Amino acid sequence: MKNIVIFGAPGSGKGTQSDLLVEKYGFKHISTGDVLRGEIKNGTELGKTAKAYIDKGQLIPDSLMIDILATTYDALGNCEGVIFDGFPRTIPQAEALKEMLNERNSEVSGMLELQVPDEMLIERLINRGKTSGRADDNEETIKARLEVYHNQTSPLAEWYEKEGKRHAIKGYGDIAEINARLCEVIDAL
Ligand code: ATP
Ligand code: MG
Repeated sequence: MKNIVIFGAPGSGKGTQSDLLVEKYGFKHISTGDVLRGEIKNGTELGKTAKAYIDKGQLIPDSLMIDILATTYDALGNCEGVIFDGFPRTIPQAEALKEMLNERNSEVSGMLELQVPDEMLIERLINRGKTSGRADDNEETIKARLEVYHNQTSPLAEWYEKEGKRHAIKGYGDIAEINARLCEVIDAL
């Protein structure tokens, strides 16, 4: 079973590419952003807590996020593979993922990093905001999210590099071409 981390800034295309990979390989997809938005929609306690952070463009605390991830993962059951989208976002989360998979006699197969310049990300997210209905897709929150990404999440690139698992991928141009680049890496894992 493959455990694939799809990594990149907000708006880098993690969700779009994950859907294509699910279709092609039959993998299951864990998007922590989608999980949190589901909780908000259902008005749960967790959703209320999460909303306060998301609306400011901040990250949900690690301890909470790590619990959510483990619960979501264990609910998946047997499958060809899992795509982790939006997790890990901090070094403690990456360490927790490693430990969680270890305990289940498994490991991250590879980390695929979608690289997109900031100006392009801002443009994509502002455009997405026109139809996504997402409260965090507005210019002010987008800038906060990018700052959080550069400060707290991007150091993970080096972390996975040291683990020998990082694969950098050009994340702009034609969606199908980006997908082909990802598939090439996945097929070799
Ligand atoms: P993309 O557009 O590439 O899918 P994104 O940053 O727009 O990425 P999500 O991954 O959906 O969006 O995350 C939305 C918000 O949910 C984040 O800004 C953050 O507040 C919260 N969140 C999601 N995953 C995590 C996580 N692993 N740790 C902490 N907070 C998280
Ligand atoms: Mg997403």
